[in-house]
Amino acid sequence: MDVKNSFLRALPAVDRILQEEPLQKIANRIPHGLLLEVSRESIDHFREKIIASSSGEELENLAIDPAVIAAEAAERARLRFFSGLRHVINATGVILHTNLGRAPLAEQAIHAVTSTAGQYSNLELSLESGRRDSRLAHVEGLVCTLTGAEASLIVNNNAAAVLLLLNTLARDREVIVSRGQLVEIGGGFRVPDVMKASGATLVEVGTTNKCYRHDYERAISDRTALLLKVHTSNYRIIGFTEEVSRKELVSLGRQVGLPVVEDLGSGAFYDLTEYGLPPEPTVQECLEEGVGAVSFSGDKILGGPQAGIIVGDRDLIRRLRDNQLSRALRVDKLTIAAMEATLRLYHDHEKARCEIPVLGMLTADTRDLKARADRLLRRLKQQVKAGDWQIMKGTSCVGGGAMPLAELPTYLISYRSGDISAEELMKRLRWGDPPLIARVHQEHLLLDLRTVLPGQEEEIVTVMMKAVNPGE
Ligand SMILES: *Cc1c(COP(=O)(O)O)cnc(C)c1O
Repeated sequence: MDVKNSFLRALPAVDRILQEEPLQKIANRIPHGLLLEVSRESIDHFREKIIASSSGEELENLAIDPAVIAAEAAERARLRFFSGLRHVINATGVILHTNLGRAPLAEQAIHAVTSTAGQYSNLELSLESGRRDSRLAHVEGLVCTLTGAEASLIVNNNAAAVLLLLNTLARDREVIVSRGQLVEIGGGFRVPDVMKASGATLVEVGTTNKCYRHDYERAISDRTALLLKVHTSNYRIIGFTEEVSRKELVSLGRQVGLPVVEDLGSGAFYDLTEYGLPPEPTVQECLEEGVGAVSFSGDKILGGPQAGIIVGDRDLIRRLRDNQLSRALRVDKLTIAAMEATLRLYHDHEKARCEIPVLGMLTADTRDLKARADRLLRRLKQQVKAGDWQIMKGTSCVGGGAMPLAELPTYLISYRSGDISAEELMKRLRWGDPPLIARVHQEHLLLDLRTVLPGQEEEIVTVMMKAVNPGE
């Protein structure tokens, strides 16, 4: 197409872009090499748009102008130069969003982290005796009190916990798992692969939807080291199904002298069904039913820092501690500080629910969510104006591979701009300061206040204003 070629020829050169105001304005703060790089990228981006366009009208709409290309380049430069880990606003309604860092910490945990970070601490010193002590002592006692466990251990994350359990208890031996529980969690955690890395051999029993006690019985041999139960935390097998219950597995284990270990995934400390959430086995329940060791994450429903917690039999936990791997998987002092402060809140369930953001979001009252959405909507309508604003019913979800079927009723602010596509708007919001992460459904931008922390509404208004009226 000739028109296309003439558009391509009209694309400005890099030098020309660099002279435009948006790039000139930041030229003294951002290295020249980076400005060159982003200018080239933006020109390429417009070139691709020209090539992809299918009509003359579409070409005209591209508004190829050195100032526009430079403005885009400047955005890229700013984003890249000032990038790195930063806070974002989560308006997706996904509470344990792994890409967004899972659990925001409680105020008390943040305080514990800051006060430990810049000063010395009694990390491995017993103030009582003046002797060296385990760094884990600060949290192990708390975990035992809260769960009724004989002993506990904390490592870097639950994947590490499972690896340590398998390596310690089953290296060069066999582990029996039901086929229906061979889960993959986001980020590459797959039960069969972790098994391989640990040096244990996986023995699968049953079928995807059905597994019976006799399936386990038949697979048990003198090479068997343990029976593993994995909580199918991010999916459910529904319909024509059968799983061996925890109690039955424990009774089988006792009969043949094998420990039962459970990867509980999320691990809740108390029952949240009274808030309309689906039943999840609690850590206490697993222990009461006789499981030898249970492992779970610190930053899922627990609402603390990234960690893997293992609770169970004193002897089992001692063997884990004695494994050299546990040294390689040990947690740092900031994690311990945050975990200790988070766990302390659990002594009082109501306090935990009020103070731990994840629990607050999980149990938020729909009427409160509606009131917050109404208030924010009024502000947005006043300040952003252009476009169509609505409030609608919707659902939030737990995320992080926990409670996959839970649908938490919520109210969403829905927005549709007359002239900016939802995709473009999402990009501008992601490039905002701070970045605002939202959902899109059928060309509508959706904001769910369940995961927006108190006080972030003002930031949302500012970022939305800039995204919708970039020139102002
Ligand atoms: C999330 C999850 C893991 C991994 O836990 P991390 O703390 O993310 O390492 C392992 N197993 C199950 C069942 C999980 O749900």
